[in-house]
This record gives sequence, C-alpha cells and structure tokens, in this order.
Amino acid sequence: MAKIFCVANQKGGVGKTTTTVNLAAGLAKLDQRVLLVDLDPQGNATMGAGINKAKLTASIYEVLLGMSDVASARQRSEAGQFDVLPANRELAGAEVEMVELENRDKRLRDALAKVSTDYDFILIDCPPALSMLTLNGLCAAHGVIIPMQCEYYALEGLSDLANTIKKVSVNLNPDLKIVGLLRVMFDPRMTLSQQVSDQLEQHFGDKVFKTVIPRNVRLAEAPSYGIPGVVFDPSSKGAQAYIAFGAEMVERIKLLETKSDTK
Ligand code: ATP
Ligand code: MG
Repeated sequence: MAKIFCVANQKGGVGKTTTTVNLAAGLAKLDQRVLLVDLDPQGNATMGAGINKAKLTASIYEVLLGMSDVASARQRSEAGQFDVLPANRELAGAEVEMVELENRDKRLRDALAKVSTDYDFILIDCPPALSMLTLNGLCAAHGVIIPMQCEYYALEGLSDLANTIKKVSVNLNPDLKIVGLLRVMFDPRMTLSQQVSDQLEQHFGDKVFKTVIPRNVRLAEAPSYGIPGVVFDPSSKGAQAYIAFGAEMVERIKLLETKSDTK
C-alpha cells in the first residue's frame, strides 16, 4: 500500500511543485516506486517531469470525472523514473463539474485506491488555493508536507491551512496529519531567513523537517529542460538537499509506522 502525501500551501510560488517533482525523483533514486499526481491546472509538475501537457490523451481531469482511470491516464517520466498522473488547464473545469457529482471530495481518493499497491509513495502537487481540488488531495492523503519560504509573511496563511487540515481530519479523513514544514528557497546570507527559520523551529519543534532546501538556480533551471533538478545537476546544492529530504521522509515514515504499531 502506498503512503500518500499532499504537498500543499495556498500561497502561490512557495516551491510546492519544485518540492513534489524533486522529492519524487529523489525517492525514485532510493529505489522507491513513486506516482506523482499533478492536481494543478497549471500543469507545472507535469512539464517539470518531462511530459508535454499540451499532448495528453487522458489526464487527471478525466479521472476525477470518472471518464478514465489512473491506470490508463498515467505516464512514465523517463527523466525522473517515476509515474505521473498529468494535468493541464482542462482541470480547471473539474472544480465546477464535480459539484454535481456524488462524493465529490473523495473522487481522487477512490481513484488512487485502485493503484495503491503499485507504489511505495504517491505525491500530490496541490494548486495554490484551498479549493475543491486541494480538498480532494487532502481527502486522499495520509499526510501533508508544507513548503515554506523563510520570509516575513510566511506564517500568514499557515493558520488557515492548519485549520483546513484539522477540519478535513475531523470530518472527512481521520488519517490526515501534517507530516512537516519544509523550509525552501533558503538564503543563509539573509538574517531574516535565519530568524524566521529559528521561529519556525521554536513554534513547531520536530514538525519542521531537519533538511533545509537552499535557493539554488539549478533547481529553477531544470524545469525548462523537463528534467527534475536532482537528475539535471545531481551535484548542485539544491539537488543534494532534495535527495537528503527524500531520505529524511523515508526515515520519518518508518518512525510513524513504528509509533502506530505500538499503539
Ligand atoms: P504555484 O503556487 O504557482 O503552484 P509553487 O508553490 O508550485 O507555485 P514552484 O513553481 O515550485 O512554486 O516555485 C516557484 C518558482 O521558484 C519557480 O520558478 C521555481 O523554479 C523557483 N524555485 C523553487 N524552489 C527554488 C529553489 N530552492 N531555488 C531557486 N528557485 C526555486
Ligand atoms: Mg505549483
């Protein structure tokens, strides 16, 4: 059975897609079987994995509306060595079209259940909104990874996200937990970055991942080649950090599993 994680933050441009694509490729390097689910009509994760979003025969849109299934819509990212359930702008229509459907917040969960044994990890890249699409992601997941930039406004909005996660876990998905906050685009030369990072550690303790992802231009360049950063330039600081993050995730999950075994 796959462990399913949402990468979510309703703020735009905070590194969700970069985190999802590079974690997927990082875990693949550790011989994990990974499915990346692109839940964003922007289709950035699809493109970043090397799949052309303009030439999809089936996508997550058809899957959510019950016109296709994950097994037929998924594609292989040869560059990243993981599978992708791709998305493009068609997906924006699903928000409206799903309103009519039964179990509209659990469509993704039900679709993923059918392929769960094919994977060790399923990673969902959420759009920058607390929308019906994000709700589908949260209902499908065991845990949420929250990428954050260490800047003054970083904490703003975090409580909205935490409240949404709490509501989903009470009403719709009791499995759901925040796995951790991931500090991304970190610039050690900025005193403010260090201050916010320290504050996060003080407030959230071990909910903050130990790995810190630095700002690194190679990570920003990689998507234009359709290659995950960890494959594009494995020796770059950004790639090394995401590979370390992959290893930290594997460790963290082992810990979570031992904790729930002893319950
Ligand atoms: P959206 O909310 O639009 O989906 P996002 O949260 O998915 O955005 P990304 O697309 O991952 O954010 O990142 C935003 C921009 O920052 C991109 O141009 C990306 O290449 C760049 N970026 C992300 N992480 C890093 C990093 N560690 N170093 C340098 N650039 C980065
Ligand atoms: Mg994105």
